[in-house]
Amino acid sequence: MLGAAGIMAVVALAAAPSDPAADVAYAFARDLANAGPRPAGSAAERAAHRAVATRFRASGLRVVHDRFAVPGIGRSRNVVGIRPGRASCLRVLLAHADSDPPAPGALDNASGVGLLVALAPLVARSGDRDCETWLVATGAEERGHTGRPDHLGASALVRRLRRAGRTDDVRYALSLDEVGAGSRFDLYSPAPRARPGVERAVLTAARAAGVRVWRVRDASTGNSDHREIELAGMPGMKLGVVSHACRHQACDRAGQLRKGAFRRTTAVVVRLLGVPSAPAGARSATLRDTALRAARPTHHGSPARPAEAR
Ligand SMILES: [Zn+2]
Repeated sequence: MLGAAGIMAVVALAAAPSDPAADVAYAFARDLANAGPRPAGSAAERAAHRAVATRFRASGLRVVHDRFAVPGIGRSRNVVGIRPGRASCLRVLLAHADSDPPAPGALDNASGVGLLVALAPLVARSGDRDCETWLVATGAEERGHTGRPDHLGASALVRRLRRAGRTDDVRYALSLDEVGAGSRFDLYSPAPRARPGVERAVLTAARAAGVRVWRVRDASTGNSDHREIELAGMPGMKLGVVSHACRHQACDRAGQLRKGAFRRTTAVVVRLLGVPSAPAGARSATLRDTALRAARPTHHGSPARPAEAR
């Protein structure tokens, strides 16, 4: 799939100094996993969602919730972080916050949630308002625990989209599921061919980032939140690796997470969304510091411009 230039780009990325956004994703995923399993309907799942909502709000996203029942178990929810944009275009990124006990769900799926949290400030402060963007930490995805045929959080999100009359606006809904390990990633969807603006947009972003992503057609209707999106007639897909040995087991712990994988998946999604890869907080702090320096009297001409953020 990749020529020599592509392979060089992959090597360069792997050897690059750590990327601050990827570090945020990694740290958040570690903390979630270290707190233990997060079964759908549990207090631990609720605590994870609360932590995500706090980070979304602090990033400047508007936060709303979808609340729903997990039959026979309890209550769950989606945390939806909204960045406004042109109403006729809506991009949705999903990551399920629950885990399949006894798994503490480091890869599955603290990794995807960490990535959402890291993206929040980048999306919130992006100057691009062409599309509205929703970052959604779903609940009750793990069907092994809920015993339901559908992914309940994704179904609740579909109901939100229908209520709001937004189903036609959805350009794609991308589930980030098991994105915290590996040097190549799979892009799942039930579509027979890569669709323009959907799978092709992700593959193009991956190529630009020098990250290997293979397209895989779902064997059936799909095994993550993108399933419900597709069944409702909207374009859905999933980025992730399902082949790790600890999947849905107690050994899916924080030690399974790899910083390099977060760098790769962060790079792909940043390019997909067209947002700056710089952490907004660090950038604004730099500008603020520069502004403070500029306000002081100086005998040495104009103050230095801040370095352009990566
Ligand atoms: Zn998962």
